[in-house]
Amino acid sequence: MRQTQLLTKTRKDAPSDEVSKNAELLIKAGYIHKEMAGVYSMLPLGLRVINKIEGVIRDEMNKAGGQELEMATLQDKNLWNKTERWSDEKVDNWFKTSLKSGTELGLGFTHEEPLTQLMGDYISSYKDLPVYPYQFQTKFRNELRAKSGIMRGREFLMKDLYSFSKDEIEHNKFYEKMKDVYMNVFKRTGVGENTYVTFAPGGSFSEFSHEFQLLSNVGEDTIYVDKKNKIAINKEVYTDEILEKLDLKKEDMEEERSIEVGNIFSLGTKFSDALNLKYKDKEGNENTVIMGSYGIGLGRLMGAIVENLSDESGIIWPTEVSPYHIHLVTLGTDSKEVVEFADHMYDSFKERGIEVLYDDRDTRPGEKLADSDLMGISTRIVVGKKTIESGEVEVVDRKTKKVRYVSESDIMSGDFLNIE
Ligand code: ATP
Ligand code: MG
Repeated sequence: MRQTQLLTKTRKDAPSDEVSKNAELLIKAGYIHKEMAGVYSMLPLGLRVINKIEGVIRDEMNKAGGQELEMATLQDKNLWNKTERWSDEKVDNWFKTSLKSGTELGLGFTHEEPLTQLMGDYISSYKDLPVYPYQFQTKFRNELRAKSGIMRGREFLMKDLYSFSKDEIEHNKFYEKMKDVYMNVFKRTGVGENTYVTFAPGGSFSEFSHEFQLLSNVGEDTIYVDKKNKIAINKEVYTDEILEKLDLKKEDMEEERSIEVGNIFSLGTKFSDALNLKYKDKEGNENTVIMGSYGIGLGRLMGAIVENLSDESGIIWPTEVSPYHIHLVTLGTDSKEVVEFADHMYDSFKERGIEVLYDDRDTRPGEKLADSDLMGISTRIVVGKKTIESGEVEVVDRKTKKVRYVSESDIMSGDFLNIE
């Protein structure tokens, strides 16, 4: 993509009511647009990052046995009455609407009810289990607070997977496996090192659920962490009793602020009981299906990456979620040789499937480099008059700011990039 053709430009300022660092940087760099408090649109660069995050999650979910589908957003009130979750007293963040006839509808904030109902068409025997449907789907939540930028949207993209298992043993095995699968997602998206599997409130069927909490002083949660043993407990469930139970000592627990980037939850038979989801076992006896739910907010993860990895100059994308592999920046566009050299390099990258944003603008060098730092593409290649003299381009790692000089032939071979 040539930057002269990109529909966004960097901006000096974010809207004055924007208080979060993630949204401020993402707006300034041209990744997102703020529609109103808690509602953001993804611009071309932002969508590329979301698609990369989605790709990592899809890969990990498929490897774990997930099957992708996509459910409707509009929700049938009658279904939610069956699980007693329609009332605003029970669920305080519903967005509701109605048909012209007056019939009330909900805009889904989660999908246990419609998916349990749907699976009733396909689950009848033990042979049909286990199954793990999942989706990337827009959720609507009438959140009270919207001060965390894209980390707490009123409309946001979530990956939600649901497990349908024959019994507790089968459920627990998958639930434990998902802890590792989730950590793989967070490692690959660059925040694994500071993300902790955290004991969190459970429901009527399990004492605990588990959250994936990323340490951050702008996080909305408080957790107690044992960094050495990589274990954490949410303040909401932190008591002397739980410490004793988990064999964890109080003196090594540190209090930290954190961001919940994902969570996994054992649902037991709460939804399958209410919506009558049963199967026949080998002996012909009827049993209730055991369920679990597993969520990751893609916008929240994108915002959390920005909060965690940015520096004073701007965003720093980990390679696997960077909108482009390379930011090719020309300095000295008044030189025909520089332009020809960079054009040739750009064409050859494209031919080889290397994703490149080419800053071909006729702008001051200082501004181009500052924009490049702000946008945060993981690797920058600078072509200038010096390149023409020496035959070497400057390769800058956005994270470490380390500079290397690489010959044209090595650049063309692509080896220097370290792209998997
Ligand atoms: P929180 O405690 O932050 O309100 P939650 O416990 O309600 O979140 P879940 O309903 O379990 O979250 O949703 C699964 C995942 O979706 C969360 O772990 C988080 O990553 C993401 N998520 C939840 N609410 C939002 C939101 N308003 N905006 C963006 N992502 C969200
Ligand atoms: Mg939560």
